[in-house]
Amino acid sequence: MDPARGLVKLPSDTRELVQRRAQGACEYCHLPQDASILPHQVDHIIGRQHRGSDDVDNLRLCCIRCNLKKGPNIASIDPESKLVVQLYHPRRHAWREHFVTESTGVINGLTAEGRATVQLLDMNDEDRARLRAFLLRRGRHP
Ligand SMILES: [Zn+2]
Repeated sequence: MDPARGLVKLPSDTRELVQRRAQGACEYCHLPQDASILPHQVDHIIGRQHRGSDDVDNLRLCCIRCNLKKGPNIASIDPESKLVVQLYHPRRHAWREHFVTESTGVINGLTAEGRATVQLLDMNDEDRARLRAFLLRRGRHP
């Protein structure tokens, strides 16, 4: 752990690989790094407390807000079916099969995993959706 940031210490080449693979955008909400005041974080998809490894296939780039909301969670409740479902997994799932972004900046979950992830990570917080809409209008949001 890096006590200054509360994050897991990873080799710099591993961090660079994860950042490059994500093309500098949060792998959950797609916020570009250059549109965020705080640096995006390289962290585990399946946390170490769940026996997740430090392998690059278990690492993702994440904005601070998604990372804080996700925490160690690997599952949540689908707001539609009320069933416990796994969260969206950036390595195993295709983003566009689970989410769609409206021109208003709101991200809708298309699947149980997508809906649970949108809700848990609070992706449609008013400020976040407003920033996303602004970036979309300028062609700066994927
Ligand atoms: Zn995010």
